[in-house]
Order: sequence, then C-alpha cells, then structure tokens
Amino acid sequence: MKAFVMIDNGHGCDTPGKCSPDGRYREWRWTRDVASLLEAELERRGIASELLVPEECDVALVERCRRANMLYRRYPEAVLVSLHSNASGDGRQWGTASGWSAWVAQGASTGARRLARLLSEEAIGRGLGGNRHTPPCGYHEGRFYICRHTRCPAVLTENMFHDHKDDVEFLLSGKGMASVAALHADALERYYVG
Ligand SMILES: [Zn+2]
Repeated sequence: MKAFVMIDNGHGCDTPGKCSPDGRYREWRWTRDVASLLEAELERRGIASELLVPEECDVALVERCRRANMLYRRYPEAVLVSLHSNASGDGRQWGTASGWSAWVAQGASTGARRLARLLSEEAIGRGLGGNRHTPPCGYHEGRFYICRHTRCPAVLTENMFHDHKDDVEFLLSGKGMASVAALHADALERYYVG
C-alpha cells in the first residue's frame, strides 16, 4: 500500500495555556503520547508515517507547514493529521462543551474531506460523537493555519475538550488514549484502502 501519514502534534512544552484547569492534562504532552501510539498503530497496518514535530518545544506553524510541504513533494500520497484537544474557555475553569470534532480548511480538497468524514465515522463508532455543532457531513470547515498552508490533504482533530471534567478523565486514561490513536489509524487505513 502506498501511504504516508504526517502526524502533527500541535503545540510545545513552552506553549502557554493549553492545559486542564487542574493542571493534570497538558495538550503538548498528550498529543505527543498519542502521536507515538498512532505511529505504532500505523506501522502495524503497514502504513508509513512521520512525526512533523519530533521536538518537545513549540515549533512555529510556518516551519511545520514548510516541513509538511517538503515531505509532500517526496511522498505525493501523503496526508496530514494534526492532533489537538479543544477548550471552550481560557482553561482556568471547567466548561460544559465536550466531544470530538474534525476540521478541514475552507475550500479543502476532496481528499481532505473524505479523510475528515472517515475520522468522524470512526470517532462516532467509538461513542465519542461530535460536539453539539457538528454539521451533517461530520466535520467542520475552519481557518486553521496548518490546514490552509499545507498542500496535501490535511485534517485537524480536536480530540475532546481539555476543560471538560469527563473529557479530561477520558483523555488521561489509557483506554482513552488508545481509543483516539485507534480511531485515527482505522480512518487512515480506510482512506488508503479506498
Ligand atoms: Zn491545540
């Protein structure tokens, strides 16, 4: 199978905020842990992948996009997934918004849309569901830099809310992390198998 997945684990250890109100969950750490699980899951499925940000510190979006576009020239079959968790407030207090969502750029390619739909189906299949505003197509369109400035099909996933108590328990559990990694791996496998 000709397949290549670029995994963008958003944010770095020096990115301000991006943690749960109780400080137990940190987005940069979690996305790196899930990215490693996803790498292993993809390898098991015979799908090549590469971490876009092996560093622990924050790497600017412009540089992450440069790396992605360079790899895409070498691997025209490549897609990008950017792993994140969502927040409804500034992270200082618990919120009520919860759930999972996928995002593509406005005017995104059909490849990006197909991947976003598959990711959404896998998330719903695992009971994560969309958050309350998910459109019928299963994904949102937004202005995320990483989706707009990369040429390959690119999808950003907001894996639950890190300022929602139950979501944080899920995210921090081994079961939660494995579930998020597996939903991405299964969707990517379906994307490439066609
Ligand atoms: Zn984020």
